[in-house]
Amino acid sequence: MKRRQFLRTTAATTVSASAAGAGAAFAAENDAAAKADGAGEEFIIDIHQHVNYHGRQNDAMIAHQRTMRVSKSVLLPAGTEMTRSTTHNGKSNGLAARVFGTEAAARVATQYPDQFVYFANEIPDLETTKTELEKWLKRGARGIGEQKFNIDCDSREMRLIYDIAKEFQVPVLIHFQHNTYNLGFERFHKILEAYPTVNFFGHAQTWWGNIDAKHVPTDLYPKSKVTPGGLTDRYLSDYPNMFGDMSAGSGLNALTRDLEHAAAFLHRHQDKLCYASDCADVEGQGDKCSGAKQRDVIRRLVPEPEVRAKIFASNARRVIGGLG
Ligand SMILES: [Zn+2]
Ligand SMILES: [Zn+2]
Repeated sequence: MKRRQFLRTTAATTVSASAAGAGAAFAAENDAAAKADGAGEEFIIDIHQHVNYHGRQNDAMIAHQRTMRVSKSVLLPAGTEMTRSTTHNGKSNGLAARVFGTEAAARVATQYPDQFVYFANEIPDLETTKTELEKWLKRGARGIGEQKFNIDCDSREMRLIYDIAKEFQVPVLIHFQHNTYNLGFERFHKILEAYPTVNFFGHAQTWWGNIDAKHVPTDLYPKSKVTPGGLTDRYLSDYPNMFGDMSAGSGLNALTRDLEHAAAFLHRHQDKLCYASDCADVEGQGDKCSGAKQRDVIRRLVPEPEVRAKIFASNARRVIGGLG
C-alpha cells in the first residue's frame, strides 16, 4: 500500500471513530498527508470571510488567513442593521454574527488589495437596496452576498438581487437554511433557469444537507451516510451557473459524515466547488479552525494536485473577478 493510500485509509477510520472528524490524531494525519503530497505551497483562495466576525479584530482576521495559508480572501459583508421581518426583527442583523457592512469590507480590501476582494450586500426588501448595491458594484465590489435573510429564495425581492447581479455580471452567494434563510431551496432550479448568465454560490446547512437524496430538511448537521443524487448534487450537475461554497461547519460535516461519498463528490464536481472557511476563530489552525480542517480534508480526499488547484483557486477565479 502506498503511503498516501495508507493515510487516507487510516483517515476514514479516525473520522468514524470520532464522529465530528476532529481530534489531534486527525490533525496530525492530515498534516502528514499534506506534506506527503507536497501541498504546503499551493495557492489557496478563501471565498468566505467576514469583517468583525463575532467581534474579531481585523489584525486577528488577517493573521487567521495567513496561518491557514490562504493567499486571497473574499470578504462578505452584512446588510444595514434594521428591525423587520427579513432580519427576524433584528436578530439576524450582522448576518447573525456581528459582521460589519459593505463599507468596512471595502476598507479592508482597499488597504490590503493583494489579499482581499469584497462583495456588496444589502437586505433585499428595502427601498434603497438597488441604489446601495449598485453604488458598491460601481466602486469595485466583485459580487453580492452573503445573502442571509428571512425571505423566499425565489421571491420578487430576491429577483431584484439577481437582476442587479445579471446587469453587473457578478455572482451571488446565498446562505440556505431551512425555514430561516432563503426559504424554498427545492424551487431554486427556477432561478437557475431564469438567470443562466448569473453564477450562484450555495452555502450553509440546507445547501450541504441536500447532497443526500434522503435528506431530512430539519436535520441541519446530519451524520448518516450519504445517498448520492440529492438536490444539491443535481443542481451542481445540471446547471452550469451553480457553484458550491465549501465553508463552515456545514461544509466540513458534508465531507466528514461520509468520506467515501465525499471523495467521489469532490471529483464529480471538481469544476464547481470552491474552498472557503467562514470561521470566526483566531487560531487559523487546529481543532477550533473548521477552515483549516476543511482544507486538510480536501487535500486528503483529492490526491491529484491539478484537481485540488481547481477547488483551492481556479474555480473561484473563473467566477469572481479580481482574484488574479
Ligand atoms: Zn458567513
Ligand atoms: Zn478558522
